[in-house]
Amino acid sequence: MKKDDLIEIVIEDLGVDGEGIGKTDGITFFVKDTVIGDRVEAKIMKMKKTYGYARLMRILEPSPARVEPRCAYARQCGGCQLQAMSYEAQLAYKVNKVWNHLTRIGGLTGLPKPEILGMEDPWRYRNKAQFPFGTDKDGHAVTGFYAARSHRIVPCTECWLGVEENRPILEKILNHMEKRRIPAYEEESGKGLVRHVLIRKGFSTGEIMVCLVLNGRTLPGLSALTASLKQVEGMTSISINVNQKNTNVIMGREMIPVWGKDYITDRIGEISYQISPLSFFQVNPVQTRKLYETALEYADLKGEETVWDLYCGIGTISLFLAQKAGRVYGVEIVPEAIEDARRNAALNGFSNVEFYVGKAEEVLPEKYRSEGIRADVIVVDPPRKGLSPAVVDAMAQMAPERIVYVSCDPATLARDIGLLREKGYVLHTTKAVDMFPRCAHVETVVLLS
Ligand code: SAH
Repeated sequence: MKKDDLIEIVIEDLGVDGEGIGKTDGITFFVKDTVIGDRVEAKIMKMKKTYGYARLMRILEPSPARVEPRCAYARQCGGCQLQAMSYEAQLAYKVNKVWNHLTRIGGLTGLPKPEILGMEDPWRYRNKAQFPFGTDKDGHAVTGFYAARSHRIVPCTECWLGVEENRPILEKILNHMEKRRIPAYEEESGKGLVRHVLIRKGFSTGEIMVCLVLNGRTLPGLSALTASLKQVEGMTSISINVNQKNTNVIMGREMIPVWGKDYITDRIGEISYQISPLSFFQVNPVQTRKLYETALEYADLKGEETVWDLYCGIGTISLFLAQKAGRVYGVEIVPEAIEDARRNAALNGFSNVEFYVGKAEEVLPEKYRSEGIRADVIVVDPPRKGLSPAVVDAMAQMAPERIVYVSCDPATLARDIGLLREKGYVLHTTKAVDMFPRCAHVETVVLLS
């Protein structure tokens, strides 16, 4: 088999970015834009020793899971990797992915297929959007999304994952740029003014935030644009973020308030959070609530317990736990996130939570050695790379009755469960939560004791 050959292939699985995977003559091929169960004709683009990449040419027999994508840009955009798959099939795929990893990597035999908490309405779930601005070949300002693996902007003001307010806000900004002849930022030359707009909505409060990311400190006719944006229902905060660096990083460090508050408020369950343009906040608040409620249920708190929340971010899980625990300690590496966590703890009147800035693998062993800290329950929510061995060791030494592991990567979760089982922990319950419908990612919560 060589480049440009046509192959016929049945898609059996999906890769990390949602690309279809199938085998022919013992060779594995990755074929974008396919769905599990499709029989397709594909053209080989690149061959390696044991695998290759091929481009979809023709669907010979569509998978029963195949649906017409709702969004006309689904294939170009690459933001939604699973739009051509029915929602039921997406959920089944995610359950299988978790189960396969736990069984194969974690060595857990006889594990039942976990439950998955899906969304009732799996569209418009994102509370945050960042749209880039550019100029089309006729010199007009455009906004939309970057075409896959490039910084070419495909004009589009409607995204089915984002809130409906995104569109009028983007159109107001584009009209204003057109009328005042305000140039969009150009990456190559570093010239031009408008780089991005960040839009956020508090789903439980209806509050909306617009933050213009500029290669400068102000915008011609700013008060006219502000007056127009204020007409959008729920508008609460308008600001400018200054980013004059030649970088792919979207936001700069300096914020200039323009109108209204410099934050919006949202609630997850009973807890309120103040969110500023630079704060991290989970993007799917509906599913986040289900995730945290599951973590809280697994923690099974009676009111007296000492709980550690490692990798706590802005303390969202910590505050959830603090409702039912005696004392909660959060650990997080990003100092700004801990500032948010402390502010949100105060906002909600919690006095039983304490936060530490630092690496979990340093803070936990250090506190254990020097202060002999203990824990009834430890909750962890690490980034994709999972727990470092030092954290696993310190946790085992502290010997909490229960460990609740929230994971965004089933492969490292499976590895870490293996390590914790070696320390004597037993896996009790596994639940998956669909935080990102249409995307290949899956979140998992497990209880070990
Ligand atoms: N539990 C939070 C955030 C989880 S994301 C929530 O639900 O909102 C993982 C967090 O781990 C990030 O905030 C990241 O900054 C933090 N992090 C990454 N490496 C870390 C480390 N070595 N020690 C402590 N925190 C770390």
